[in-house]
Order: sequence, then structure tokens, then C-alpha cells
Amino acid sequence: MKDEDEGKLHYSVVVPVYNEEGNVRPLVERVSKVLDQVGKPYEIIFVDDGSRDLTPTLLRTLCRENPRVRAVRFTRNYGQEAAVQAGYLHARGRWILQMDGDLQNPPEDIPKLLAFEGPDIDIVYGVRKNRKDPLFRRMASQGMRWVMRRMEIELPEDISTFRLMRASTAKLLAELPERSKFLSALACWVGARYTVVDVGHAPRASGRTKYNLAKLLNNTFDLVVGFSSKPLRYVGLLGLGCAAIGALVALRAVVYKLIWGQTVTGWVSLIAIIAILGGAQLLALSLIGEYIARIYIQTQARPTFLVAEVIEGESLKGPAGVTPSPVELPHASS
Ligand code: UDP
Ligand code: MG
Repeated sequence: MKDEDEGKLHYSVVVPVYNEEGNVRPLVERVSKVLDQVGKPYEIIFVDDGSRDLTPTLLRTLCRENPRVRAVRFTRNYGQEAAVQAGYLHARGRWILQMDGDLQNPPEDIPKLLAFEGPDIDIVYGVRKNRKDPLFRRMASQGMRWVMRRMEIELPEDISTFRLMRASTAKLLAELPERSKFLSALACWVGARYTVVDVGHAPRASGRTKYNLAKLLNNTFDLVVGFSSKPLRYVGLLGLGCAAIGALVALRAVVYKLIWGQTVTGWVSLIAIIAILGGAQLLALSLIGEYIARIYIQTQARPTFLVAEVIEGESLKGPAGVTPSPVELPHASS
């Protein structure tokens, strides 16, 4: 992928935020300190994913105070991946530095990512050394990786959302027309050249994680169904297994009758087989339904997100520091 010259900014820091009122200001301070030292022009773009706390107000103030800070506000909560994509699309820098808004990715480690910037690399993924997440969160990630390996979905191991991306690559991913997007898996799919580097990981600075177990399981399922049709094959195997059990039980009845003249009695085996077969059929139907539902959702062609407003610094836009654009046109790609 070639480096397009996207204006004079060098870095766009993209940060999705959802109820991060305690973190946005310290994040701007710490990131600015590091990037000021690096000495190349940059901007920090927050994408407010429908926060219901003081995050939007704080972002407004930050944008007024600091012309390097911009914010894109969604009309509601659309999810982290949508927020990240909006950040990519609004970025004006040649390179995008993506990080979480909860300070789990230490801004002081940014130079480790920047060290790999160059013409032969499209993405530098931060790999978390000593991940500081609760046990259930780490187990869920491991489970997700296991499922992905089984489904043969290509994804670099242990990568995090702390990463440096060539802007043209990031925009290419954000513009792919599919709805349910897993950017890291898609980056492999488009053939982006990547490398990994160890970065630190801190516990959340304030607030709570936005992911519970159900949400994580849901994400994994979405990823698998979005990237692989293998589940359909597995459910076919399950059907085959159930049919084999049925055939064996029938064979047993025939053998009993022919050899010992006994009729196999009892409803239990009958009920068990009906239940097994019924269950397998419902499972297969629901799985096929999942794929059909995705076709349906994709044909509706609704955008992945809607932008309520883009907030920019005083020196860039009007006195209130806000570009009062109503809901932005639906993003065609999403
Ligand atoms: N986030 C978001 N929208 C969501 C959920 C999360 O923009 O619906 C943001 C969140 O504010 C944070 C980042 O995505 O900046 C990662 O979320 P979180 O820290 O909750 O995830 P975890 O670190 O527990 O995986
Ligand atoms: Mg976090």
C-alpha cells in the first residue's frame, strides 16, 4: 500500500470513548507531552460513542483549549469498532495512532510504535506485556483466539487496539462495504504488512470496562460468522453424527429382534432420539438463520454510525468551537 500525502499533519491519534469522563483530559496531557517531544505535527481525534456522562462536555472544553484536539460525536452508542472507523475516516494525518481512551495503553510507549514507521510497514501492532485486565476478560480473549484458530481466521497473536497504521490502509478498511467489521482480521484479509512490538499495559485509570461476558461472546460469534462459513460445515457434521446414532439404535432393534426374538421396549430411547434429532435440526436452522440475517442486514445498507457533530478547536472553527453540522450524511460504505 502506498503512502498518500494526506495534508500536512503527520499523526492522527484516534481514540474511541464511551463514558470516559475521568480519562480524556489526562490522556490529552500525556499524549501531547510525548508527541510534542517527537516534534511532528499531530492531531488528537476523540470519537464520542454516545457517552452519557460528562465526556461530551469535557471534549468540547478540550477542543476549545487545544486546537490539536478534535471530536466526532455520534448520535448514540454504535460500538467501539464503529467509533474507530469514524476516527480513521476523519483523520487528516499520514499515520494513525489508535489507542483506548481509558489509559490502559501508556502514551509513553507511543515512541516504541513510531520506531517501526516506514515505507515497508502498514500496521505496527502493540502487544500487551503483562496484560492488566480482570481474569474473565483475559480468559474471554483466549477463548476468542482459540475459536479463531479453529475457524482458520488469520489474525496476529495477542495484538491490542494500541497500534500505528498507515492512514491509507486504515481508510481502506473503514471503507470496505461490509457491516460487521473486525478491523484486525480485515487488515490481514487486505494483505496489510504488519509487525508487532511489546508495549506496556496498565489497569483502567478510571471508570469501568464496557464489555461483559455476554458482549464478548456475542462479538466472538459475530466474528466467526462474519469471517467463516465453517460453522455451517460443523453443524452438517453434527447432523451426520445424529443420523449415525439413529441408525445404530435402529440396527440394535433389528439385531435384538432377529437374534433373540425380542422387541426393544421403552419410550426412553425413542424420546431421546427425537430430542437429539430435533435439537440438531433447530441448531442447524438457527445457524443458517444467522447467515441469512446477515444478508438481510447487509441489504438494508444502513450506515454503521451517524455523526451528530464534529467539534473542532476555536482557532479552526467559529467562536463556540463547534461546527454545528446536523447529522452527517450516512457513510456510504457502512
Ligand atoms: N468503547 C467505545 N464504545 C463502546 C465500548 C467501548 O467507544 O461501545 C471505547 C472505550 O471508551 C475505551 C475503548 O473503547 O476507550 C476500550 O473499551 P474498554 O476499555 O471498555 O474495553 P477493555 O479494555 O475492557 O477491553
Ligand atoms: Mg480498557
